[in-house]
This record gives sequence, C-alpha cells and structure tokens, in this order.
Amino acid sequence: MAHQPNARRGSEGESPALSAGETIAAIATPPGRGGIGVVRVSGRGARAVVEAVAGRVPEARRATLCDFRSASGDLIDRGIVLFFPRPHSYTGEDVVELQAHGGPVVMQQLLARCIESGARPAEPGEFTKRAFLNERLDLAQAESVADLIDASSTEAARSAARSLQGEFSRRVRALAEAMLELRMHVEACIDFPEEEIDPADRAAQDGMRRELRAGIEALIADARQGAVLREGLTVVLVGRPNVGKSSLLNRLAGEDLAIVTPVPGTTRDYVRATIAIEGVPIHLIDTAGLRHTDDEVERIGVERTWRAIETAGAALVIESATDAQVPDEEILARFPRKLPRARVVNKVDLVPANPSHAHPGEAFLAVSAVTGAGIAELRAWLLEVAGWKPHGEGLFMARQRHVDALQAAAGHLQRAEDLSQQFDLQAEELRLAHHSLGRITGLVSADDLLGEIFGRFCIGK
Ligand code: GDP
Repeated sequence: MAHQPNARRGSEGESPALSAGETIAAIATPPGRGGIGVVRVSGRGARAVVEAVAGRVPEARRATLCDFRSASGDLIDRGIVLFFPRPHSYTGEDVVELQAHGGPVVMQQLLARCIESGARPAEPGEFTKRAFLNERLDLAQAESVADLIDASSTEAARSAARSLQGEFSRRVRALAEAMLELRMHVEACIDFPEEEIDPADRAAQDGMRRELRAGIEALIADARQGAVLREGLTVVLVGRPNVGKSSLLNRLAGEDLAIVTPVPGTTRDYVRATIAIEGVPIHLIDTAGLRHTDDEVERIGVERTWRAIETAGAALVIESATDAQVPDEEILARFPRKLPRARVVNKVDLVPANPSHAHPGEAFLAVSAVTGAGIAELRAWLLEVAGWKPHGEGLFMARQRHVDALQAAAGHLQRAEDLSQQFDLQAEELRLAHHSLGRITGLVSADDLLGEIFGRFCIGK
C-alpha cells in the first residue's frame, strides 16, 4: 500500500517543530493611521519578546493593559496585550498581539522593538503558512484567508468565509478517502491472476469508481462557480471612436471612470474598471479605437488593444445606431475564434437598431448608454459568458487551481477505468488521481506550490 503522509510537510520533510524555530513579527493592520494598530508576534520566542517589550507575559487570552517600552526604558505607547499560548492560536505557536495606537511611527517603533527582542520580520503570508504547517488550516482554507481579505463583493466574502470554515475541504477529503478505499481494493488485486479475483469485489470496485466520478464531477461544477466568483471575467470593449464605448463603460461601472468626449480618438489608453454583477467581478477594458494611424501614441494604444483581446474572456463589439460605419471586418477577423462576442448597438435612444446587422455566432444587443435601455440584458449576457449560474446558499470559494486539480483527478480516474484489466497500471492512475486531490488541501504539496500560494499574501497575514 502506498505511503500515506499524515502531516503537511514539504517534500524535504519540513516539520511543524522546525517552522516554530524562528520567531516572526509584523504589523498586522493596514498602513496609515487608525484608532488601533496591531503588531503580531509568533514563535517560540514570543514570550521573551512580550516580556522585553511589555515588561511581563500576561495571562493567556486575557486583554491586559501594559506599557510598551524601548530598550532604554522610554515609553513607546500604552496598549493592550493578548497572549495565545500554543497550540490554541492562529499559527499553532505561541502568539502575542500588541495593540497600540495605530499611527505609522508607533507601529514601526513597536515592530522594531520586537525585532530587537529576538523576532525577525515576517514574510508575506508567513503567519498563515505556519497555521498550515502546524495543521491549524489546510491549504484550501489558507487560500480562503486571502480570498476573504481580497473579496470584492458580499457574495465573494460569504463564499470565502464558507471555504475557511472547511466546507470545500470536507468534500475534497471525503473524495480522497473514497479514492484511498478504491486504491486499497485495486492494489490488493495486483498480485493475483485475473481468474482468482472475486467477481463480487470487481463489481464493488466498479461501483466505487462510478460514485467517485459522480462526486468529482459535482464538485467540479461547484468549484467552477467559486472560481468565477473569485476570478471574474475580463471583457474588452471594442469599436470605432465616438460610438459611445466610454459612456457605456461608465454606465456599466456606475461611475465616471473613462473620459467621455465627442472628439474622436480621445480614449487612448486603458481605463480599467471592475464592476460586480451579482457579485461576479467583471473587469472591463476600455480600449483605444482600433484604427490605422500614424500617431505614435495611438499606435501603442492599438497594440495594447490586441494584447488585451488575446487574453480576454469576452468582447463587446460596439457600434452606434446613428452611424452607418460598422466595426472593421478585417479587425474582427483577427479575433481569437473562441472569444465570445456580442454586437452592441448603442444610441438606440436616437435611432432604432437594425437587428439585420447581427452576425452568426454573435449576441445582438440594442442599448443606450444615455437612457440605460438594454443595459440589464447586457449584464445578463456578461454573466452567462462568465459561466455564472444563479446559485443559492452553500456556494464556496474556489480557485482555478482547485478546478484544475479536480479535472486532473477525473482524468486519471477515467484512465483507470479504461485499464480495468491491468491492476498495476490502474493502481498507478488511481495513485495520481489521489495525489491530485491531495494537492487541493495540501496533503501532498510540493514546496514550489506552497511558495507560490503564500508568497501572494500580504505581510502580517
Ligand atoms: P467613445 O469614443 O466610443 O468612447 O465614445 P464616447 O463614450 O466618448 O461617446 C461619444 C459621444 O456620444 C458623446 O458625446 C456621448 O455623450 C455620446 N453618446 C454615447 N452614448 C450615447 C447614447 O447611448 N445615446 C446618445 N444620445 N448619445 C450617446
């Protein structure tokens, strides 16, 4: 039977004890001025640090008023100290939180004092990384800490909170357990000739495989929704100058983010806006008019437009109902074939749109940036392209990484099914499928994956 790692560690076998070796400190509150600022300290030396800075180690989990003093005894500030002895702390190590007045100078002095007393500055995401290494959180939960902090809508925040509670992880773990069970059955068959294998056991294996497949498919569908909620859709607005791209962007964004002007060619660069439609982030890129030009600045704008189109998830091809000029077909022919497109005819408050302009494979939308006509339909189309299905309660936050891992697991499971006559090859595919599931929660996690995930956190998390 394959070795089952029971603790989360990198491939070099980094142990929780090792990670607690160094004491780290960081300002946990955002930069700037606030009523309260927090310096957080974690690690074996946390007690020594608080003793040096606050003159004593306060009672566990009890807010204690202390004087924070410099090495020479000068008062830095007076504030609250909270001490969380391990293992019942965020990181699983001894943690101290020093709450002082939230001014940048006070915070810097306090942090410097902690470092002078034996801590070192924390790396981005290092508190949460330690929580993971000490098994306070699994990897998917640790990621949802960042997602909760970065959430740009109420829906996204709620879903991230649900993932942090472990809802997504529980489903992944249940699948991993079922996968392990199937692996045991298959591996037990490896050394036996075909005819000696109990047909009842074979039937049981088939049943387990079917159930696993259904479970993974269902989780992929839910995780995809979570990924849409987190990552959103990038949409390029294209069209000739003056058709009303900026006005439309402003209408969708609900605020004046682009320059609206009747002079052709004035929108020379990107104006990025992210709006939330039902909580799904839609990243809008307002582009320079796609036209041939000798003007250097405009030429750069045109090039950027092309780059944006290559990576976008959808395009709105905008024209004006008042203008016989339609977007250049030569330009549209260069669009990636799979890029979903909607032809948006604007200014229908002035002249009615002519649907005969619609192209096959394109959505056709008649709108007015001025009156707001057709804007609801446009938003609905964007949500559909984003892959968003109105979802009730129970949605959890997921990332593309999770969807990819689930798909990899489904792929290996399918190959295992195709190899059902060869137990050794089947066992290997199931091992890979199991490994893919493990990568989601971090049961099996390479160091590079950990570095990538935690490196994107901010310091103090
Ligand atoms: P862009 O060059 O494509 O970004 O076009 P703008 O958004 O700057 O709009 C060009 C002009 O058309 C401005 O004077 C807008 O006020 C006007 N405009 C844009 N949308 C509409 C619309 O739906 N109806 C009417 N009547 N005018 C519009």
